Amino acid sequence: MSFVELNYVVAPAPTVSVAVRGSTGRFPVRRIYCVGRNYAEHTREMGHDPDRELPFFFQKNRDNLVLDNGDFPYPAMSNNVHYEVEMVVAIGKGGMNIPTEEALDHVYGYALGLDMTRRDLQGEAKKAGRPWEIGKAFEHSAPMTDIVPVAVCGHLSKGAISLKVNGEIKQQGDLEQLIWNVPGIIFHLSSIFELKAGDLIMTGTPAGVGAIKRGDLMEGFCEGIGSISTKVV
Ligand code: MN
Repeated sequence: MSFVELNYVVAPAPTVSVAVRGSTGRFPVRRIYCVGRNYAEHTREMGHDPDRELPFFFQKNRDNLVLDNGDFPYPAMSNNVHYEVEMVVAIGKGGMNIPTEEALDHVYGYALGLDMTRRDLQGEAKKAGRPWEIGKAFEHSAPMTDIVPVAVCGHLSKGAISLKVNGEIKQQGDLEQLIWNVPGIIFHLSSIFELKAGDLIMTGTPAGVGAIKRGDLMEGFCEGIGSISTKVV
């Protein structure tokens, strides 16, 4: 078989992929979706009513990922950068309008991530009715662990999720406190976008978000997945 080498006019971006625990295989990343305000207490700390909202979504870029417990460089343009520890769903099979009772069949595995946020810029964007990218989708804004396949960890519907900064507990919750659980998230998201294998979904953060500074060590933990450790540099 022969193939024609494409004549790109600039160098194509490399494929971004995440290690898969217990395997030499890699998970190629297509899109990163994030769920906003998906724990009641965090929704309240951000000034909203958790009882009256459908889930909503924003995106990060796949090249915003920081893998292998790499450092998080303090980003430009902000004086108020927050951590948000989040369980991440890795989609193994795509689809549209996926019913909740079939949703878990579309999950390849789970990971733990940090939805790093330039809170000051996000706040200004919200106030001005502008999109959130400036606050959410910046370079290095998505530290993430390897992906634990469902075959290894099962489906995660409960279990402690927490974040320490410099050894001090800042965020503490349980996956069973998710307002929209994994099947509910997949149902809603797949009614808006066509999901495909390779998509990652950050499922939202428990209460206790706060600011970090250079030199801080962020350590996240989630039962069933393990830990992530990221230094702010
Ligand atoms: Mn978040």
